[in-house]
Amino acid sequence: MVQPYRHEPFTDFSIEENAKDLEAALRQVEKELGQEYPLIIGGERIYTDKKITSINPAKKDEVVGYVSKADQELAEKAMQVADETFEWWRKSTPEMRADILFRAAAIVRRRKHEFNAWIIKEGGKPWKEADADIAEGIDFLEYYGRQMLEIAEGKEINSRPVENNRFTYIPLGVGLVVSPWNFLFAIMCGTAVSPMVTGNTVLLKPASATPVIAYKLMEVLEEAGMPAGVINYIPGSGGEIGDYLVEHPRTRFVSFTGSREVGTNIYEKAAKIQDGQKWLKRVVAEMGGKDTIVVDNEADLELAAESIVQSAFGFQGQKCSACSRAVIHEDVYDQVLERAVELTKELDIGNTSEKNYYNGPVVDQGAYDKIMGYIETGKKEGKLMVGGEGDDSEGYFIKPTIFADLDPEATIMQEEIFGPVVAFTKAKNFDEAIDIANNTDYGLTGAVISNNRNHLEIAREDFHVGNLYFNRGCTAAIVGYHPFGGFNMSGTDSKAGGPDYLYNFLQGKTVSEML
Ligand code: NAP
Ligand code: MG
Repeated sequence: MVQPYRHEPFTDFSIEENAKDLEAALRQVEKELGQEYPLIIGGERIYTDKKITSINPAKKDEVVGYVSKADQELAEKAMQVADETFEWWRKSTPEMRADILFRAAAIVRRRKHEFNAWIIKEGGKPWKEADADIAEGIDFLEYYGRQMLEIAEGKEINSRPVENNRFTYIPLGVGLVVSPWNFLFAIMCGTAVSPMVTGNTVLLKPASATPVIAYKLMEVLEEAGMPAGVINYIPGSGGEIGDYLVEHPRTRFVSFTGSREVGTNIYEKAAKIQDGQKWLKRVVAEMGGKDTIVVDNEADLELAAESIVQSAFGFQGQKCSACSRAVIHEDVYDQVLERAVELTKELDIGNTSEKNYYNGPVVDQGAYDKIMGYIETGKKEGKLMVGGEGDDSEGYFIKPTIFADLDPEATIMQEEIFGPVVAFTKAKNFDEAIDIANNTDYGLTGAVISNNRNHLEIAREDFHVGNLYFNRGCTAAIVGYHPFGGFNMSGTDSKAGGPDYLYNFLQGKTVSEML
């Protein structure tokens, strides 16, 4: 029997000892910056001439690491290794595989501050967000390990006196895992180990902005006993090796988390049957969001303002679940807006390697330019209440920004910005508020702040998002508590961290024997 598990507690950095431990870890990690990292294919370390340079987005000239870059030839080599490894790995026991995850969780937990420090450096995360990212990664390891042990028993089906029937789940084959930079540890880890614990082999292509932390996870998994060839680490350009492997006839499934644009392309490319391909590829695609907090007229307005500000600006709004629209009942609109602006003015911003700032940088120049572009659009479409300024001289800093009085159809009410920008709009009544909340192509997260039971029940049925929260913010899903994934153009609703998730990487097999 495995021990019951709840979730990894968050670190309280207001306790001086915790803050000191993290500062010490940051100083230690600073001594380890700028190293070269190889690919890992079949356990073999391969250094390439071409490198991905990973930088600290808070301090552009600080190189976190130089990471070797796979080309198509190396991607092909990795595919062959993963394909061969699958032949025996698919028969490995679920217990053996789950144990690797449990040991990996223990290693990361022991080295938590060090991992936090790497995340702060490579992702520019504030401390609290880095800590939550690592905690979520640990939770994925613990949760998927336990889920595998449950699934391993198969499901009860009927047998008759003349026949013995068995129904079990078997793995699929080689999977391509493509992860984003925003949950550089948690999502990368969860999406890499879930196919692996179910008996598949994996080609892990981390986001080019954050490949070093993924290398660190590979080391942990190896230390935890993961055999060579089971997960192969192949950073490289999404366009170059991503496309190649998505279209590869031996790819059995793709697990993608990232933008709608890339996700929909992968979905389309994976659907095309290639020469020599013997199956229909499965695609898990978890994509963007345009997430809304609705505030009713009967509501705790302080809670409303706090929820909007935290959900909009935590990690600079770079979460698929981030609140980027606030739809407020006209009776309380001015009060909530004013309070949200006040709270936003209290937030500090800076290089999070130096201090426990509430906000750090956005991830890179491309993100900076795109977000500043949306801020310019916002100035035309609405009323700038706070923020609106950026500074990319040393790092990519953008002040938390609130726009008011938006038309629900405005660009900044419709397109995913993926930065610290939230747009407020007024609704005449609760029904209209829900209509506005639903008027995007996405359907990832949402929240309703209301003390009206009827209205909450209406939202339960009609607010069409994969993760709906009442009287709290719309970010911070916890593994095993809030299975995560969205509707419509937010993706395939795979529900990471939920009881159905591992079935994405399994297929059911019925064996019936006549007696
Ligand atoms: P992205 O630009 O789509 O990149 C995601 C990953 O896809 C990266 O590893 C990227 O590699 C790779 N990629 C790019 N082109 C590819 C191609 N042609 N074939 C295969 N892979 C390719 O997204 P991002 O900027 O990293 O992440 C932000 C987005 O992710 C937002 O839209 C956010 O909402 C979404 N997101 C969704 C969830 C969710 O659970 N629904 C969670 C987190 C983030 P390179 O880095 O080399 O380009
Ligand atoms: Mg970086």
